[in-house]
Amino acid sequence: MNIHEYQGKEVLKQYGVTVPEGKVAFTVDEAVEAAKALGTSVVVVKAQIHAGGRGKAGGVKVAKNLDEVREYASQLLGKTLVTHQTGPEGKEVKRLLIEQGCDIKKEYYVGVVVDRSTGRVVMMASEEGGTEIEEVAARTPEKIFKEVIDPAVGLQPFQARKLAYAINIPNELVGKAAQFMLSLYAAFVDKDCSIAEINPLVVTGDGNVMALDAKLNFDSNALYRHKDIVALRDLDEEDEKEIQASKYDLSYIALDGNIGCMVNGAGLAMATMDIIKYYGGDPANFLDVGGGATKEKVTEAFKIILSDENVKGIFVNIFGGIMRCDVIAEGVIAAAKEVGLDRPLVVRLEGTNVDLGKKMLNESGLNIVAADSMADGAQKIVALVK
Ligand code: ADP
Ligand code: MG
Repeated sequence: MNIHEYQGKEVLKQYGVTVPEGKVAFTVDEAVEAAKALGTSVVVVKAQIHAGGRGKAGGVKVAKNLDEVREYASQLLGKTLVTHQTGPEGKEVKRLLIEQGCDIKKEYYVGVVVDRSTGRVVMMASEEGGTEIEEVAARTPEKIFKEVIDPAVGLQPFQARKLAYAINIPNELVGKAAQFMLSLYAAFVDKDCSIAEINPLVVTGDGNVMALDAKLNFDSNALYRHKDIVALRDLDEEDEKEIQASKYDLSYIALDGNIGCMVNGAGLAMATMDIIKYYGGDPANFLDVGGGATKEKVTEAFKIILSDENVKGIFVNIFGGIMRCDVIAEGVIAAAKEVGLDRPLVVRLEGTNVDLGKKMLNESGLNIVAADSMADGAQKIVALVK
């Protein structure tokens, strides 16, 4: 799960990470009020969307007086911001962070991630802050320094200092920078983050080390123990179909293709996507209805697939082990009756109660193309959407 920058900064502050003073605003008047309350001569107006690259896209504006705050806030609120992370459709700005302007001496990068290759949490730091870290990693990987963290003892002060020296933090600020990293790591572990990225971390004219940006992602499997984080969820920023799916506890991820897939089991779902690709098609989603799905769950899953305009055809690929094929058939029929099935549907059923399931689908009056195997089904749906 993702949260906004201003929320991330509030979370980090609880752990002693230094951040600029700031306040969220939902309207132009609130923005001006917030700027007044800050009372600093320079105020930064920052669009809050769940995507980075806002600076380059005009989503971060420096205002030198309240009139400028009003002007920038009115420009940004309601605007669709297109950054390199939003995709071409962009994201509408509904919230602003009004923040004290910071006298930046130099920008750095610090990130904490779960590293799959070492199976540990890794802190990364670079002198090349402010720019896209992916570019730094591609062009000058030697400018990114890493410390692998032992989970038993956590990030050690010497590791933090090592990173601070490696990225050339001025000597007199190494202590502050190291403390910053230790606090960031504490927040990461305590809140079960999957990513905590500070880009830029800055050194200021008056000798401070602070986070000018904050991107926090949380492990959704751990959200049950972080009610305070769940409360920060902004549904406006999420895919509507994914929200609907999460209500019914379905594992659903929207993709770019045009073949809707309904599958049981994550492994079979992955294999189904692979085989569609193999035969020259493109899956529109990953959808695992799970092992013991009910008719209601299957109905909902099918409706979510049908609600996607990009879906030009549907492939139902079920191996009924715990899942019963007749329950799948019931769900498909119910959903098709409710919302109408206006696109080709290929069904491959195998396993428990397969004959009953097939019979139900045959007698439903729905226009269904039956498939004998996974490969057969994939080929059929790819041909039908072409
Ligand atoms: P994004 O990563 O989405 O582009 P950032 O929050 O990193 O957004 O802001 C982009 C740039 O704007 C920063 O690299 C920094 O130079 C500048 N900036 C952001 N916040 C402030 C601030 N409070 N004071 C001064 N400059 C800022
Ligand atoms: Mg940034």
